[in-house]
Amino acid sequence: MIGYIYYILDLTNADMYIGSCWKHIWSDRKSAHKTCKDYNRKAYEIIKNNNYIFEVLEENDFIDKEERFKKEQYYIDNNKCINTKNAFGLNIENVNKLRMKYYYEDKKKYSDRTKKYYDENKEKLKNYQKEYKLNNNNFLKRRVCCIKCKKEFQYINLKKHNNIYH
Ligand SMILES: [Zn+2]
Repeated sequence: MIGYIYYILDLTNADMYIGSCWKHIWSDRKSAHKTCKDYNRKAYEIIKNNNYIFEVLEENDFIDKEERFKKEQYYIDNNKCINTKNAFGLNIENVNKLRMKYYYEDKKKYSDRTKKYYDENKEKLKNYQKEYKLNNNNFLKRRVCCIKCKKEFQYINLKKHNNIYH
């Protein structure tokens, strides 16, 4: 669908607002910005100074809204503008939270992959674990001799031995 990335530039103070919308609602969007303060306070702040440029920055055929938002966000990130919300309508301070959400989703994807690997290699991994346990057990249960009192005990009891006798 054909969409616009647009900007509103305040010629009195060089403040810039960046937005995006579909081509077929362009005139509605324009008049909404011009007449309605609630529509977007930041855009209205520019318009009320009554000395501005309101122009299309880019026209493109976007697959969906999300692709359009991504392009809008690209312009927001690369221009000094007064937007308090990012392209996805979130407050800028909430964007970091969103990044964390994506991070956790990626992490979940990652753990799903780990689970898949585990399911496919169950037997092999079980044997690894068994072997590790056995080796570790042998290590912990091996007999050692105390340097100080020459008593013999299992390695696993070394700490206890030192606490009691030394
Ligand atoms: Zn000892």
